[in-house]
Amino acid sequence: MGKEKVAIIGSGNWGSAIAKIAGNNVKNHNDIFDESKVPIWVFEEDYEGRKLTEIINTDHENKKYLPDVKLPENVVAIPDIVEAVKGATALVFVMPHQFLSKTLEQLEGKVEKGAKAITLIKGVGVEGENIHVFADVIQEKLGISTSALSGANIANEVAIDRFSETTIGYRTEEDGKLWQKLFQTPNFRVQLIDDVAGVSLCGALKNIVAVAAGFIDGLEYGNNSKAAIMRLGLLEMKHFCIEFFDNVKEESFLQESAGVADVITSCLGGRNRKCAEAFVKEKKPFDQLEKDMLKGQKLQGIHTAKDIHIFLKSRNRIDAYPLFDKVYQISWEGLPVEKLTEGL
Ligand code: NAD
Ligand code: 13P
Repeated sequence: MGKEKVAIIGSGNWGSAIAKIAGNNVKNHNDIFDESKVPIWVFEEDYEGRKLTEIINTDHENKKYLPDVKLPENVVAIPDIVEAVKGATALVFVMPHQFLSKTLEQLEGKVEKGAKAITLIKGVGVEGENIHVFADVIQEKLGISTSALSGANIANEVAIDRFSETTIGYRTEEDGKLWQKLFQTPNFRVQLIDDVAGVSLCGALKNIVAVAAGFIDGLEYGNNSKAAIMRLGLLEMKHFCIEFFDNVKEESFLQESAGVADVITSCLGGRNRKCAEAFVKEKKPFDQLEKDMLKGQKLQGIHTAKDIHIFLKSRNRIDAYPLFDKVYQISWEGLPVEKLTEGL
């Protein structure tokens, strides 16, 4: 069998951090991976008068989305998505969730037969009363085995090699071990679990909890309130998974980085938290805060809150998830933020 050829689809804050790790690890495991090149698809744009692909390929740094972090030279930015995945056998999906479906349309029928994929995207696909994790969406659309990676992984910290853990929910154990080789480093520890749905759902739902934590910070309610939000949020996450998905493992929530640890880090230091705090203090809409504060990076939590609201409404189950509902109502329907904790 030939060597695995990796391609990374997405080049934002997390996409660039993971490209750094993957670019180095294909060299460390060059018996398995083709080390010569790790293409990374870049949604092309101008930054400081230059094309972002040109910046990455010349300066070996994604100056817009992950400044001051050098990328290995085998990470090559490509603006054409079909060209980026040409010949690739190991596809890494890592983009804001709102862009996935368009990306998959462009890739349909274009990926190597027998390739496999992993998604690092935090979000869910909702159509009325139907909900899907993205690993299933990608697997179905492209016909390739797709695993999921999620964890307490603030990209800027992982990118500078601070000790962190993550969880891979694998489709087959063999796939899990391959992805572990691609991502694990001495300071980025990768645990494996046979739970694609649980790992994926943790990553999506914790973003709603992080928005609630940001509201608490904006209200200046203090640490007890924030801890309560984390606990209640984790419980709603778990109930949601058990109610709507078969075979989700409790360990994913309570023992894995994807669950409890990601709730904690996101409620302490994530972008969703930060913008939700500003939403309360500055009284500006989220789209403006995203633009002003994140400089092109994207918020996921308020959109996931809306997706989950649509789903729960169509199932007549909104009342069973009061925290998720409050985040939706405050973010999208003008409910005063002081109502957040009422009735929880
Ligand atoms: P990001 O928030 O930095 O978003 C910017 C990216 O979106 C850029 O690559 C930009 O080119 C792209 N983009 C903008 N408009 C686009 C369009 N119309 N079509 C396609 N792409 C477009 O992205 P990120 O931080 O890499 O996040 C990707 C996923 O990883 C998200 O689901 C996020 O929740 C998850 N994640 C992020 C972090 C983190 O700390 N940043 C950590 C773990 C997981
Ligand atoms: P934010 O998108 O809120 O920054 O969360 C990043 C993350 O997923 C950390 O694990």
